[in-house]
Amino acid sequence: MASAVMQRVAVLGATGSIGTSALDVIARHPERLSASILAAGSNVDGLLALCRRHRPAHAVIADPAAYPVLRDGLRDAGLPTEAHAGDAALDALVAGDACDSVVAAIVGAAGLSSTLAAARAGKRLLLANKESLVLAGELLMQAARDGGARIVPIDSEHNAVFQCLAASRAPADVARITLTASGGPFRGRGRHDLAGVTPAQAVAHPKWSMGPKISVDSATLMNKGLEVIEAHHLFAMPPARIRVLVHPQSLVHALVDFVDGSALAQLGLPDMRTALAVGFGWPERLASGVDLLDLLAQGGRLDFEAPDLDAFPCLAHAFDALAAGGTAPAVLNAANEVAVSAFLQGRIGFLSIPDLVAATLDAMPPQPADCLDVLLEADARARDACTARIATMPTSGQPA
Ligand code: NAD
Ligand code: MG
Repeated sequence: MASAVMQRVAVLGATGSIGTSALDVIARHPERLSASILAAGSNVDGLLALCRRHRPAHAVIADPAAYPVLRDGLRDAGLPTEAHAGDAALDALVAGDACDSVVAAIVGAAGLSSTLAAARAGKRLLLANKESLVLAGELLMQAARDGGARIVPIDSEHNAVFQCLAASRAPADVARITLTASGGPFRGRGRHDLAGVTPAQAVAHPKWSMGPKISVDSATLMNKGLEVIEAHHLFAMPPARIRVLVHPQSLVHALVDFVDGSALAQLGLPDMRTALAVGFGWPERLASGVDLLDLLAQGGRLDFEAPDLDAFPCLAHAFDALAAGGTAPAVLNAANEVAVSAFLQGRIGFLSIPDLVAATLDAMPPQPADCLDVLLEADARARDACTARIATMPTSGQPA
């Protein structure tokens, strides 16, 4: 009986923050959810530990050099799990019949190929990997339509919008979408106060516990910029009808205004297990382990303010790239990935992140982008251009 309703889940980015939360929710529902495929980048020990706990049918490590360690580790643990390595193996498994649902939680453009494979194969797609929508939003949404995939956004704001939209039948009823932003660890600081901030300070997010890349994106507000582009694709919403508000309590995740003046919001504690439970269960609701919201706990306040685009220009760069269209969002995303990585390695300063993104966009005027090859080429060229520019910068992190 139970097997008829068992949802077999591929967790891509299983060793990461979202992957860990997804596996926590899955383990709460052994009668209806099972992790059948686990995939990670290079953390083979972490992946092996997860395989011992969740006993998937397949485990995939992106780094081919780690394959022998994975294979031997699975064998030595006496597990039935089959070992695989490389992106092509992952794409084939995601598209095959070993899973019904896919949690796309690889960080960065590295997640695009497997996310596309899940969309084309018509899986239930729990989409956390926002960079794939920024890089190739139109193609990904088209692939999901063609493949019959149901996308449930996992990004908390988009998951909130998804839930609010269930209250309406026609897209034309929606007047505006508001994404909230915590403001990150540097909310309230001016640009002059940001030059010397360290990677450790940038990843110390006040409300959410997340991987290092998205934590830096939250500190620059690029995360919200990527989310504006993400919302545009997920909900077919023109940029002019997408708004960002800073909301330091991070309890209201998004609002949807309807043409009749109603505004619906979704609230909850800042814990990604809620969005993941929506993804697994929708239209049903599943227990997620997240506590119920106590609105009095933080002084009974819900505050909102406008974002400071002078201190955090990445948000404006993202709106500009969305308006420019074509390859511009792909260039924005690629330059940001390279800049954030250099910042995390201590090679550039915090303010160089928006500067590098802007300079790379300036150097690469947008081209029409109607196929994946054009976008991947723009992504690669933007990475090269941004890397070359960083090489000319003194290690103090200030532009030459
Ligand atoms: P993370 O750094 O904690 O985890 C990243 C995962 O991706 C790891 O399991 C890593 O092994 C894997 N990975 C990296 N490169 C890979 C590759 N080339 N091939 C296969 N796997 C690879 O990141 P995270 O915070 O879990 O974020 C994952 C994605 O979800 C990002 O796109 C992020 O923007 C999005 N997201 C995260 C949160 C959050 O709360 N953490 C919220 C919203 C959206
Ligand atoms: Mg978000």
